[in-house]
Amino acid sequence: MSLHKLSGWQISEKLKKKEIGLGEVVSFFQERVQRLNPKIKAVISLFDEPLGPEKDSDSKLWGVPVLIKDNICIKNKEITCASKILKGFISPYNATVIERLRKAGLVILGTANMDEFAFGSSCENSCYGPTLNPWNESCVPGGSSGGCAAAVAAGLVPCALGSDTGGSIRQPASFCGAVGFKPTYGRVSRFGLVAFGSSLDQIGPISRDIVDSAYLLNIVSGKDSRDSTSASIAVPDFSKSFDGSLKGLKVGLPKEYFVSGLDGQVKKTVELAISVLKSKGIEFSEISLPHTEYAVPTYYILASSEASSNLSRFEGIRYGKRIHQNNLIELYKRTRQEGFGQEAKRRIMLGTFSLSSGYYEAYYLKALKVRWLIKKDFDQAFKAYDAIITPTSPTAAFKIGEKADNPLSMYLSDIYTISCNLSGVPSVSIPCGFTQEGLPVGLQLISKHFNEEMLIRLAHAYQESTDWHKQFPVNYE
Ligand code: GLN
Repeated sequence: MSLHKLSGWQISEKLKKKEIGLGEVVSFFQERVQRLNPKIKAVISLFDEPLGPEKDSDSKLWGVPVLIKDNICIKNKEITCASKILKGFISPYNATVIERLRKAGLVILGTANMDEFAFGSSCENSCYGPTLNPWNESCVPGGSSGGCAAAVAAGLVPCALGSDTGGSIRQPASFCGAVGFKPTYGRVSRFGLVAFGSSLDQIGPISRDIVDSAYLLNIVSGKDSRDSTSASIAVPDFSKSFDGSLKGLKVGLPKEYFVSGLDGQVKKTVELAISVLKSKGIEFSEISLPHTEYAVPTYYILASSEASSNLSRFEGIRYGKRIHQNNLIELYKRTRQEGFGQEAKRRIMLGTFSLSSGYYEAYYLKALKVRWLIKKDFDQAFKAYDAIITPTSPTAAFKIGEKADNPLSMYLSDIYTISCNLSGVPSVSIPCGFTQEGLPVGLQLISKHFNEEMLIRLAHAYQESTDWHKQFPVNYE
């Protein structure tokens, strides 16, 4: 039986036709996690009792096993954000996305590894140690949702839910040869997602094909009264976008994304993917997103500022770990000193500095203004173009340790993904080929706010004419 090579929707069809039983599916994937996870360390906890369907549903993903990034709350389960400071924290409630998954009848197998509090692009900043890339175990799987992406790539589950503040769904998906979808800001409720950058965070799917991602997106999307930033905009049936001609669509290629920092092999692979789409009748033109060069500093000021504020709630009193002291201030200090890892401390210091009096105007306020300019670049482009296409990341997966001691080079590797979070637009990374070393390359599709349908239409058409999404890493066959 090679269920691990099927997509979630294919497994669900088999279940509905009674070709296979739910117990069989669940134990098949549990066995794969038990056998293969010690190699890649993608899963933090495999539940003894998976959270099964609450009731029957006609969902296209009924009975499909999933993993959840360790920053999304699951009732009565330990949620740690891969941080020592949250060790022992048991969530008293479910995130809205978890309730929706359960209603649709998916089976939650456990939680997946990540960079601590989602700070990182490599999954190396985890208190559990790094996850490895199943395509080459000496490489990182990307981050911060690296555990989800590696688990999907290695066939430990067909799909997973991650979160994306600056690329954390798309970049690991691209490094692992998976599909990673960041919805429009406001499309999916953030209730129960441990906040990193509240104005940037979105939950979204990671899967092996666009069909599973579209179905998952339908399940988790929509207004939620418990998240005031979730949008009251109707959620279309995304599967309607599986057909549809691409003829006459106009797609922009931003010149700022095809510059010297882009690896030659990634560039070639992306150009080949563009030629496939061209043959389907899309008109491509070079465009400009002139404020791209400011995206990295703008993001790291804003995201760190929001993070420093959001993380102030972890003080040893209400959540997780506590280092007992006689004096309250000492208790806070010691708990945070011992509980947070190096990168979390760096973000807290960067953010606190940007928000402090005397520096607020020069850093935080200025970054807010530049964010607006970056958003306007996209608004302008989408007046004339249906979508924008770029590489997801300037390189394929890098070696474990290669950037671990150089935060600046790690930050710069996010250059292609963070503008979408700053401007709130949806984007998806889809597999589009491999480097000579056999590492996956991702193609990033971007559209205007709440037009996920366009991304699904493009991705589905591309997937129909290629089989990159069907490739499987040899050691995990
Ligand atoms: N790599 C980026 C960062 O470290 C994005 C992380 C994310 O999207 N959570 O902040």
